[in-house]
Amino acid sequence: MSARLVLHGVCVGLLFAALAGAPTPAKAQKIYIETDLEGASGVYKFSQTREKDTPPNIEACEFLMGDIAAVVRGLRAGGAKEIIVSDGHGSQAFLPRLMEPGAKYVTGKPRPSSGLDETCDAIVMVGCHAMMGTPDGVLCHTQSSKSENRYWYNGVETGEIGQSAIVASYYGVPPILVTGDEATCRETKKFFGEHCVTVAVKRGLAREAAELYPFEETRKALFEGAKRAMAELPNCKPYQVKLPIQAKKEWYELDAKGVKGKLMTREGEILDLRDLYKF
Ligand SMILES: [Zn+2]
Repeated sequence: MSARLVLHGVCVGLLFAALAGAPTPAKAQKIYIETDLEGASGVYKFSQTREKDTPPNIEACEFLMGDIAAVVRGLRAGGAKEIIVSDGHGSQAFLPRLMEPGAKYVTGKPRPSSGLDETCDAIVMVGCHAMMGTPDGVLCHTQSSKSENRYWYNGVETGEIGQSAIVASYYGVPPILVTGDEATCRETKKFFGEHCVTVAVKRGLAREAAELYPFEETRKALFEGAKRAMAELPNCKPYQVKLPIQAKKEWYELDAKGVKGKLMTREGEILDLRDLYKF
């Protein structure tokens, strides 16, 4: 072996050593968290989510804020530099007195924009529920729990976690963590694959019945899951659907008293992913 080759080998070795020892570049700077109320720890009745500002509703919002706090802490421990948390529940659920430091909290309606855009590196969904019709899905629904909406995109029935991820895919943003009941976690793996981390905070027995996991355990699992999700981020891909989307929607007509009437159907095309919720 010539001296030159030996020298070359040493140089390559040094280069590998330098690469292995170097800290991995911080890619995941900005995380967007979408939230919902139905999938929070301790929430299992519609009376907790539908009737704004009642004692059970305020308590449920406290439960959600506790879940969010655990996720914010976990994301930061995993390297997140900037975190935006969006209040995604219809009637809004944030309690500012319980905001965990290290994130910004966006709430109130209507808003000019959600804050989700191409500057975000990943989307996290906290407090989610399974799609309408899931037998073991706690408080399961898609958009409207009363009119029992259902949506199909290119023939695939899709719930709210899929809908959020489709909009995020417009900006090239992948889902990295979804939290909710066991049915939500199953739906997540089916739609987004194995790399997207899931954390279950309860197991559904029926739409308004559940086996609840204690807060101390769920908050620990949420922290660990969020930290793990940051490590999984490079392996996660945006959830993409083919455009134009062939869309179908089904829902029940409701009368003035909210009593279910005729089943309605609508079909059409969605040309822009940002218009998903307009259909
Ligand atoms: Zn929802």
